[in-house]
Amino acid sequence: MDDYAKVTPEILTALESVVGVRNVSTDREKREVYSYDEVNRGYWDGEYVAEVVVFPESPEHVAAVLALANERRIPVTPRGAGTGLSGGAVPLHRGIVLSFEKMNRILELDTDNLTITVEPGIVTAEITKAARAAGLLYAGDPCSGDASFIGGNVAENAGGNKVVKYGSTGASVLALEAVLPDGSVTWFGGKRRKDVTGYDFVHLLVGSEGTLAVVTKIVLKLLPLPARVVDLLIPFPDTESAVSFVPRILREAKVVPSSIEFMDRTSILLAQRYLNIRLPHDDAGAHLIVQLEGNDPKTLADEYERVGDLCFAHGALEVFVADNRNVRDKLWKARKCLAEAIMAFSAHSCLEDIAVPSSAVPELMRRTAAITDRWGIEGVHFGHIGDGNMHINFMLPEKRPDWHDLFGGALRELYAAARDLGGTISGEHGIGLKRRDYITTMLDPAQVELIRRVKRAFDPNNILNPGKIVPEALS
Ligand SMILES: Cc1cc2nc3c(=O)[nH]c(=O)nc-3n(C[C@H](O)[C@H](O)[C@H](O)COP(=O)(O)OP(=O)(O)OC[C@H]3O[C@@H](n4cnc5c(N)ncnc54)[C@H](O)[C@@H]3O)c2cc1C
Repeated sequence: MDDYAKVTPEILTALESVVGVRNVSTDREKREVYSYDEVNRGYWDGEYVAEVVVFPESPEHVAAVLALANERRIPVTPRGAGTGLSGGAVPLHRGIVLSFEKMNRILELDTDNLTITVEPGIVTAEITKAARAAGLLYAGDPCSGDASFIGGNVAENAGGNKVVKYGSTGASVLALEAVLPDGSVTWFGGKRRKDVTGYDFVHLLVGSEGTLAVVTKIVLKLLPLPARVVDLLIPFPDTESAVSFVPRILREAKVVPSSIEFMDRTSILLAQRYLNIRLPHDDAGAHLIVQLEGNDPKTLADEYERVGDLCFAHGALEVFVADNRNVRDKLWKARKCLAEAIMAFSAHSCLEDIAVPSSAVPELMRRTAAITDRWGIEGVHFGHIGDGNMHINFMLPEKRPDWHDLFGGALRELYAAARDLGGTISGEHGIGLKRRDYITTMLDPAQVELIRRVKRAFDPNNILNPGKIVPEALS
């Protein structure tokens, strides 16, 4: 129920006095631009527009804005770069959008403790670059990393391309400075690698989609940078042979690649069209990209030869070894452009990120093919197959008035398939607004009630990103 206070001229003056006039905008165009993420705009066209956008420059600014909003009961939606694929940054109840683009500094790179401390508005790739310049690795690597902010990655527990070896964003988060909805500022965690003192609030906040607290500083774990990286591009005759091969890489080649990625035939063609490039063996039914890292060239060569032999034994058409930076960059550009390519070449699209146990991926792909056939929609599938996290995507090339019904029907069947196969409806993009009405198909009532109670404990006035994750009636 929307019984929130409005952003009146008096509130605007109060906001301006705490963050400065230059950091408050009520410009209509700006409010609209800051009220979307990358979910197909047709889902909630023009419905949810912030009343004001605020650009804090410090944790003190954030604390003062939240204290005011909490006292007056005005909704606040934190926003990173707006690359989200769940509607998490959409201001469902209008109010204040809190954009972190001005809190974008690296505060410390600690080479003794192998940590980097950053503000939430820094672009993810800047962290990777800074770590690399010090001979270190930041393992977070979402495909959107050239645009997304680390605060958004933390709030979504973003995955990406290196999860199979290093885990999702949360695995790199050691500590968070957070502003609670009442405006109090606190630190959870620290540079220490172990900590069992009280509940693990760090990893409760990771993935909480900006509903429990606003993150204002992040301490991330770094690792030594591997000296050598090799990518294998492995074409297979069809999806089935590619996806059923994947569990054998870890089991039989006895290596832990940093990435195992999948692109189906439609994805290969889409990447070529979008980037105007030609990939090797573009007549294949599917491609796998397997990335291996190491320090010793001989050990690395042994590893990729073992993986290569196994690929051929399992029906691979070829194994291309990309060991120089240019070729590797070209491969990854093709893999990373796919979400954008879908949006560019379709009138309607729906990007999903089902995660299932690895052994269930072949059956997920069979059921997905049946679903797209039944609903008469195009499927384009790729993803982080090493984690069983598949981007099952629906596309309609031409405008259709019934697109919402078609995608809705197909989604219900896809989510049911994920659940039946022991999987989940989102492995990395989050629930947000887009999937919140489906969460009760995944979690039992006791778990949904627990989410409500945790939310109330942090945010009794329900001002922080309200209406996300669990359906409104339950929040
Ligand atoms: C082309 C493309 C490729 C993508 N590839 C991947 C991928 O490989 N892996 C993956 O996991 N995702 C991927 N995504 C999805 C998206 O990039 C991630 O979810 C990313 O983490 C969102 O970051 P953002 O800064 O854009 O956050 P936003 O979309 O702005 O916000 C996301 C959520 O974070 C909350 N939030 C933002 N900042 C804060 C803060 N400081 N404190 C508290 N809450 C906050 C918001 O309220 C919202 O709920 C992709 C998206 C696109 C468009």
